[in-house]
Amino acid sequence: MGRPGQFPCTRTTRLLLECGAVVDAVDDRHRTPLHIALISYQMVPDERAQWSESLCGVVCELLGRGAHVDATDYSGVTPLIAAIGGPAETLIRSAINPRLKCLAAAALADATAVFRPAEVPRDLHAFLAMHGVHPAK
Ligand SMILES: [Zn+2]
Repeated sequence: MGRPGQFPCTRTTRLLLECGAVVDAVDDRHRTPLHIALISYQMVPDERAQWSESLCGVVCELLGRGAHVDATDYSGVTPLIAAIGGPAETLIRSAINPRLKCLAAAALADATAVFRPAEVPRDLHAFLAMHGVHPAK
């Protein structure tokens, strides 16, 4: 149980997900909710003891809904990187269970490949971008 209004909040996260929030939605820096939760924790030097439990709760909710620990933001940071040294590192590591399509996307990203949107099925665009493969300009 956290203080009212405390962030990150496990119950709020669960409620949002149950209401259809997209677990891998990205912001303008291409960060997913998993990124945001982990990076926010890094940015509060105080009160970390109170935060760590709720952070782990939120991370569990997101992982339980299939959040990708290998999603890549515009700086190349993944939730896995953001979790290092924090209370959720073990949780994140235990979720490394690469899906074949994630590995394929990672290989493309490593090769700094881009894709032509017209030649790739539309439902793969966000997936590729989330893994660091961006549309050709
Ligand atoms: Zn993935």
